[in-house]
Amino acid sequence: MNLKQQQYINGKWVGAISGNTRDIINPFNQEVIATVPESDESDAKAAIAAARAAFDKGEWSSAPAIERGAIVRNIAELIERDKEELARLESLDTGKTVEESRGDMDDIAGVFRYYADLADKDVEELMDSPVPNSISKVVREPVGVCGQITPWNYPLLQASWKLAPALATGNTLIMKPSEITPLTTIKVFELMEEAGVPAGVANLVLGAGHTVGAELSSNIDVDLISFTGGMVTGKKIMQAASVNVKKLALELGGKNPNIIFADADFETAVDQALNGVFFHAGQICSAGTRLIVEESIHDDFVNALVERVEKFKLGSGFDEDTQMGPLISAEHLAKVEKYVETGIEEGATLAVGGSRPEEPELKDGFFYLPTIFTDCTTAMSIVQDEAFGPVITVEKFRTEEEALKLANDSIYGLAGGVWTNDTVKAQRCVAKMRMGTVWINDFNVYFPHAPWGGYKQSGIGRELGKLGIEEYTETKHIFQNLKPKPINWF
Ligand code: NAD
Repeated sequence: MNLKQQQYINGKWVGAISGNTRDIINPFNQEVIATVPESDESDAKAAIAAARAAFDKGEWSSAPAIERGAIVRNIAELIERDKEELARLESLDTGKTVEESRGDMDDIAGVFRYYADLADKDVEELMDSPVPNSISKVVREPVGVCGQITPWNYPLLQASWKLAPALATGNTLIMKPSEITPLTTIKVFELMEEAGVPAGVANLVLGAGHTVGAELSSNIDVDLISFTGGMVTGKKIMQAASVNVKKLALELGGKNPNIIFADADFETAVDQALNGVFFHAGQICSAGTRLIVEESIHDDFVNALVERVEKFKLGSGFDEDTQMGPLISAEHLAKVEKYVETGIEEGATLAVGGSRPEEPELKDGFFYLPTIFTDCTTAMSIVQDEAFGPVITVEKFRTEEEALKLANDSIYGLAGGVWTNDTVKAQRCVAKMRMGTVWINDFNVYFPHAPWGGYKQSGIGRELGKLGIEEYTETKHIFQNLKPKPINWF
């Protein structure tokens, strides 16, 4: 494999201090595709020291913003140049289809380009001053040393949401990708080096969450933690980060409702309800896994879902006709299996799926059939807990009020959808839905300038858009008296 299978600290490609390594597994067939350092706290400390020294040296943070923007733009161009290689690497590492990965790479280049353009915008604002002969202005400055921790489902996309704004605003950073999917992040660090990011500014440490991630979260030389991952991990990070009151940005889980009214375009709603969940085998924080369907169309809707799901083609992400690849790992497959068992025990009706596929050619991969439960209620844990796999729960409603009550009955508040041809009704619903993003007659639409983040226990802060810049900047008010005079206060 044409990839430096190492970590990147202070501008050097190095192994773990301990010499330990970890095999990276292809989830389609369990073959070892790479062997990377298994770093630990000592590697994290070395990376933090490098990032701290680079920040304190000030060359990056005080470089003209337009120069930083140019380097971030170079990264976007290199990602576009190497798009096919990156897409294939992402699919090899995660099992998702190459077509999906190509889409990810376009989005990722777009994110770097967006923040490159914003690097020199809105960096200071003159204020009206109440004091004669004075200047009052607000400037944005980098936060400092940023720890960035990402999950395995969209490894490089999630990394780009953190790397691009952090670099554009003059921070230094240490990134820790998920220990099971580090390959495209390594590749992008190669590209960042080629793009001209100076040594020490961006550091990459590989390894587990309870070692490297915990060190980043609790080390007093780290000023900010930006984390994307599960809610339980997010809570641990919040506690650890209290040690020096780090700034925190947390993108956590979701259990996202998708409300289907009877007056929606039936075929489009069926199609998008499926895509909203089974894309990347349901391993999406914003998957619309809680379908809430109006009673009058409920049975027809479920039948239409089942009919299509039965035709789904599971397979290698490298086959053009594959619709769904494998889950990420044996451990995660076992978690999804347990979740489905719980659904059956709780009394939900299994409409389709509920097991691993039987095809011999899929036996070595971590595959699970697309699964739909009906007769679900919010009292069931399968309606409350994230499966993070290809499983839909369907609930029924009679009135708009009831639909909204079901939609909001969750500790999460990441995203949701509403399907109706009545625009007034749609707007009424959206106003009452307690989520960071709501789609009307669409699902899972993202772009770099639209902020992303959750209400309730889905997180703190926002990534993407201009709000993404706020996460990585401190605000300083500067007041200058141009004609100072004694005030004779005693
Ligand atoms: P996870 O929480 O297990 O791991 C995420 C990252 O945190 C990994 O890099 C892991 O090594 C690290 N980590 C684990 N324990 C840690 C600790 N004690 N301290 C510091 N870091 C630690 O999550 P996952 O299984 O990789 O990803 C799935 C979860 O991510 C789902 O809950 C999903 O909803 C969420 N997610 C959210 C978003 C979003 O935008 N809100 C996007 C993608 C994924």
